[in-house]
Amino acid sequence: MSTSHTALRDLGIQAINSGGSTGSSWWSGRNDGSLLPSINPSTGEQIAGVYPCSPEDYERIVKESLEAFRAWRMVPAPKRGEIVRLIGQALREKKDQLGTLVSLEVGKIKAEGDGEVQEMIDMADFAVGQSRMLYGATMQSERPAHRMSEQWHPLGPVGVITAFNFPVAVWAWNAFVAAIAGDTVIWKPSPKAPLCAVAVQQICNRVMQQQGYAGIFSLFITDQPALADNMVQDPRLPLISFTGSVPVGRRVAAAVGQRLGRTLLELSGNNAVIVDETADLDMAVRAIVFGAVGTAGQRCTTTRRLIVHESRCEELAGRLVKAYAQVQIGNPLEKDVLMGPLIDQVAVEGYRAALDEIKKEDGQILCGGRVLSRTGFFVEPTIVRAQNHWPVVQRETFAPILYIMTFQTIDEAIQMQNDVPQGLSSAMFSNHLRHGERFISAAGSDCGIANVNIGTSGAEIGGAFGGEKETGGGREAGSDSWKAYMRRQTNTVNWGTELPLAQGIKFGS
Ligand code: NAD
Repeated sequence: MSTSHTALRDLGIQAINSGGSTGSSWWSGRNDGSLLPSINPSTGEQIAGVYPCSPEDYERIVKESLEAFRAWRMVPAPKRGEIVRLIGQALREKKDQLGTLVSLEVGKIKAEGDGEVQEMIDMADFAVGQSRMLYGATMQSERPAHRMSEQWHPLGPVGVITAFNFPVAVWAWNAFVAAIAGDTVIWKPSPKAPLCAVAVQQICNRVMQQQGYAGIFSLFITDQPALADNMVQDPRLPLISFTGSVPVGRRVAAAVGQRLGRTLLELSGNNAVIVDETADLDMAVRAIVFGAVGTAGQRCTTTRRLIVHESRCEELAGRLVKAYAQVQIGNPLEKDVLMGPLIDQVAVEGYRAALDEIKKEDGQILCGGRVLSRTGFFVEPTIVRAQNHWPVVQRETFAPILYIMTFQTIDEAIQMQNDVPQGLSSAMFSNHLRHGERFISAAGSDCGIANVNIGTSGAEIGGAFGGEKETGGGREAGSDSWKAYMRRQTNTVNWGTELPLAQGIKFGS
């Protein structure tokens, strides 16, 4: 396993790095803005710094991306796939180092850091296959000697804005599919994880240079909301794929909607697990602990609500409290540590504020509930007896707080599961066939993801990933998500010698 030092060195991270690039031949320079520090959340110390982009850098990036698009859209899709395959290969070679950097910069345990890079590699493989399957349908024309069909064309430069908690994988979900679709990609990563983005850009640049391309994958780091707004409002970017919180997502959707552009929104979740009277508790406990404590509760798919049949609540709560006591908290790069820190002090304050609110509601804290007094942003994973309608339960607190509630009938459980503004991931543990089927039926969970006997987090890339309601409705990764990155064109060709008009209309001579 790489050390922090060797990982940074092997990934080409310097003490000070540029925050903009369109390829090996251009990295942005120093500008008037202040240096953006990358902070290790386990220690609060600076790892390295990045010069954010200036407005002029942004202009250059968009211009080069547009120019590159004009050529890239004419490269055959399987050839584009081959280039993505080479990037996947380059990521394989740097998996350990990049996984270490993810741990270092955002505090995920090493297995999760490596897992995130593996997801990028899997996405590359998926996109390579997809590059030969950008299928359009054919239709039967109602007119003689006419052929109707549809085809999918590249869209243009795509803006990809990502959240801190998946600092590399979310880019890959978007970028690889967009690239095989013939689009170029401009990535604005979270300013809380700029080094991960610089490292990925370096890996891409090397492959693209060897293949003789530039401007296909570009990096645009900024910590200025006004500059990010510029990108969102830019009509040269036909699609903005945004992953982040609901409040920022709302602004992005409104701004892109105003210019009648397209958005792909992947916003907050408030995910529940239902445990019914027939559930296998061994399986449920494992899934709930992984879902609620993993990534210190900072996944969009984190299990935040537990809706348990009243006959099983005491037993399940007791087993969870025991399991939580085993969770080792600490430096995410150390062996046996299962939970790292929150991302920053703001996140710690969010955790604290939620607990204050819980106390005012008379919520019973079953375990956890403390901020750890040590360097870094560490908190205890927490379980609370709560009620679904409390405002604190209705919103996403991006921290490891699990709310337990009880139900009597399965209809009541499903209603509680659906009775929040968000609609990302949901799960039911049950050995009752009818309960499981009811849960995933049209009258069941209203989420984009609904699982039976599997927890809420850890989605596979083969399916379309995303959620409903305030989660934004976007879909990324597998299934037919590629269609979001292309424009559909319906073609009718008349290969006959007559010109029959629609609806039998006779017009002119
Ligand atoms: P955030 O909303 O604070 O930031 C997300 C991104 O938006 C960052 O890159 C940020 O710099 C950028 N941004 C901020 N202001 C902007 C503006 N005015 N215009 C354009 N961009 C702007 O989110 P975060 O704290 O980084 O991430 C956590 C949130 O993301 C959680 O709510 C989580 O559920 C959500 N998330 C969702 C998914 C999903 O797939 N549904 C995946 C990961 C994270």
